Amino acid sequence: MARRKHRRWHTSSLKRASGSTVGKRRPGCVEGPLQIRRYNDPVLRSKALPVQEITDVERQLAADMLATMYASPIGVGLAAPQVGILKQLIVIDVDRDNPECAPLVLFNPSVQSLTGKVTGEEGCLSLPGITADVKRAATVVATAQNIDGESIQVEGENLLARALQHEIDHLNGVLFIDRISGLKRKLLRGKLRKLQQQSQL
Ligand SMILES: [Zn+2]
Repeated sequence: MARRKHRRWHTSSLKRASGSTVGKRRPGCVEGPLQIRRYNDPVLRSKALPVQEITDVERQLAADMLATMYASPIGVGLAAPQVGILKQLIVIDVDRDNPECAPLVLFNPSVQSLTGKVTGEEGCLSLPGITADVKRAATVVATAQNIDGESIQVEGENLLARALQHEIDHLNGVLFIDRISGLKRKLLRGKLRKLQQQSQL
């Protein structure tokens, strides 16, 4: 997921979440180690498979995904299908400017409960330059495995709740533009067509 840089969000819930730290931050890096798949790539419409065993291969993938996410100045979340890998793995850091706040690395995340509704602006690293207001649940409880394979529960509100829903959607082949009205999508048609043409080059 991507956000505008100037926005400020409440992210206290992230500190309560028992996520894991993996990889080193690379704020000066302009290009991540993995290629981000763009809109119209069929992999973004495919379902990711559960990760049966978390090995060094998965841990390295998580580290590379984080580095790729941090390479974008506005990235706050990334799902494995966005780098062409159909595994149920997402990484999130909604407080990326705070070095004391560890990013979340979640394997096999599953939504347990959704509460309330809130509309907020969203973007996506796979759809650069496109943003839209999306109505999502205000709070989310999800279960997952962390980098050590331990079962954890993550509670999110505000931007974390939005990022969890956005990234878990990716694991099911769903993009944020699927969650906006037909009228709003019509307004984005020109931009989407342009993106489609760019990704075919
Ligand atoms: Zn996205």
